[in-house]
Amino acid sequence: MASLPEPVVVLLGGGVESTALVRRFLAEGRHVSPVHVHCGLIWDDCESVYARRFCDANAGPLLAPLVEIRLPLGGFLNGHWATTGKNVPASGALSAELEIPLRNLTLLGFALHAARRPPNGVHKLALGTTADNNYPDGSRDYFDKCEAVFSLEAGGPVQILTPLIHQTKPEVIRDSDRQTLALSFSCVNPQRDLHCGRCIKCGRRQSAFRAASVDDPTQYSN
Ligand SMILES: [Zn+2]
Repeated sequence: MASLPEPVVVLLGGGVESTALVRRFLAEGRHVSPVHVHCGLIWDDCESVYARRFCDANAGPLLAPLVEIRLPLGGFLNGHWATTGKNVPASGALSAELEIPLRNLTLLGFALHAARRPPNGVHKLALGTTADNNYPDGSRDYFDKCEAVFSLEAGGPVQILTPLIHQTKPEVIRDSDRQTLALSFSCVNPQRDLHCGRCIKCGRRQSAFRAASVDDPTQYSN
């Protein structure tokens, strides 16, 4: 009998990408350990709600309980709009305005340390970064170098899986299913647990659904 594929720790930010990634691994029969990192940013409470809701909807023997890490970065990001809520980049704003320093390094590093060492000693971390990610910390080269550093840190091999890195956001949306899309969350200025419909991430979400020719199931507050 073939042994079960190794468990994979997935950074679950709740967006269309990370939710699709969890669904893909589950469909492949892989054990998934979802991790959400709450950094005290203005959308993190809402993101936590969506991450829990998604995990509840996908509960089963392959999905481990959601690991929630509290990592308040308010001091480090002193004055950043993501902590103050002032001048939140609007729909159509430049990508550079959305950039949060050390984002993937922080999320991956803490997810690694929250994860139990797997039986065969190989840590597998996955994130749903796509071809649309043009930030310096979104390239395969960046993740390759993270693997090297994290392997030293962990005292054993660490792999960072990026199965969606050659797909665009509209392609991920097209490959996902309606329930998963409806349970996903990507807004940096949510209003009472709803997408605001006006921020840079809502703008990208809406245009990606349009580009995918998929009906957007999101309820926007505006
Ligand atoms: Zn929004």
